[in-house]
Amino acid sequence: MTSCLAGLAAAVALLATPAMAAPFEDSGLDAIAKDFVRLTLEAGEREPGYVDAYYGPQDLADAAKAAPREIPALRQEADRLAAALAAMDAKTLTPDEARRRAFLQGQVKAAQTRLAMMAGEKFDFQTEAQGLFGVRPPLKPLSAYDPILAKIDKLAPGKGELGPRVDAFNARYVIPADRLKPVMEAAIAECKARTQAHIALPKNERFDLSFVTKKPWGGYNWYKGDAHSLIEVNTDLPIPISRAVNLGCHEGYPGHHVLNALLEEHLTKGKGWIEFSVYPLYSPQSLIAEGSANYGVTLAFPGPEKLAFERRVLYPLAGLDPATAAAYDAVATATADLASAQNTIAAAYLSGKMDKETAIANLSKYGLSSRAKAEKSLSFIEGYRSYVINYNLGQDMVRAHVERAGPSQDARWKRMEAVISQPTTPADLAK
Ligand SMILES: [Zn+2]
Repeated sequence: MTSCLAGLAAAVALLATPAMAAPFEDSGLDAIAKDFVRLTLEAGEREPGYVDAYYGPQDLADAAKAAPREIPALRQEADRLAAALAAMDAKTLTPDEARRRAFLQGQVKAAQTRLAMMAGEKFDFQTEAQGLFGVRPPLKPLSAYDPILAKIDKLAPGKGELGPRVDAFNARYVIPADRLKPVMEAAIAECKARTQAHIALPKNERFDLSFVTKKPWGGYNWYKGDAHSLIEVNTDLPIPISRAVNLGCHEGYPGHHVLNALLEEHLTKGKGWIEFSVYPLYSPQSLIAEGSANYGVTLAFPGPEKLAFERRVLYPLAGLDPATAAAYDAVATATADLASAQNTIAAAYLSGKMDKETAIANLSKYGLSSRAKAEKSLSFIEGYRSYVINYNLGQDMVRAHVERAGPSQDARWKRMEAVISQPTTPADLAK
């Protein structure tokens, strides 16, 4: 409500003030996009982590650093941009421009929401997610996940409480520290080969891989521009063998590295759309990025192909027994169905309805993880809040959209390429 009223006031001001109307006269979207980049960079000076990646003009970054506006002024600017976008006459826009505008509207709405949070406004979990990521996540009661636990109970060997039992089982499939590098490199190479068979990658695309510690996340892709990424893998906790392909696809191919490289090639360079040179972390762009990165695993390794590759290549490289790979894969696959329980726990914890100990216990129970891993999940939730929906709901939405292309792998890859190389919004995924 607040932002609607402020937006209306800004629209009136925009129409009434010739000095402000002028920049939008010729190419409305280009001017708005440039102001959006300025806004994002300056907000990034007010909140560490706000800007996930930027590879646009250096002078804009320098100017933002030198004189970032205060949060109230940034909120006014976000309202002004939202009003300017809303005031555009849809009939005058080409289909390409209409998609560009819709994408910018979602990004600006996210800026309005995040800046309001930075100013101390509080939203409930679903409203926050809707504002930041463009979709209202359904929240299932935790009991809805109990049948999945019952299924895993039958798959996991041994007797006794399920969490510690699955944890002990998974511990047998940890990649030994001294084998981590070759296993990860082999996994990423396979993810890349499978992606390249369907998507033409920019010629100079490349990534660096490094192992880090003391982070709240498991892996991170830092996009540097010019088709270059730094992929970091956090080794605070043991990494089980199934994570190698997951990380390789998610952070690399066809995940974050490819999405960023394609957006840069097609939109930033190809069309001169400057808004794609900046990636605000709390924006619908993240729902698309995390959702496509997670679904990319299934797309690149359909059906039994992930297990087959792991058994043939990764198990021997890691010094693990390939004969037991199927049993582990069955548990890991079933566990993935529990992912959205995290939304329910995060919503309850962040609103104060669930205390910290209960949240850790529930994350452990419904994540079938050790206490250490549950604590890591909670620290992620504390830091990134409703961002957690992007992984599970984002994946479900990208999966549904891509698989509506039909059973053909070629058709699915074609749809996936469109998702990660065009200005895709959460609403586009419903089509
Ligand atoms: Zn990610």
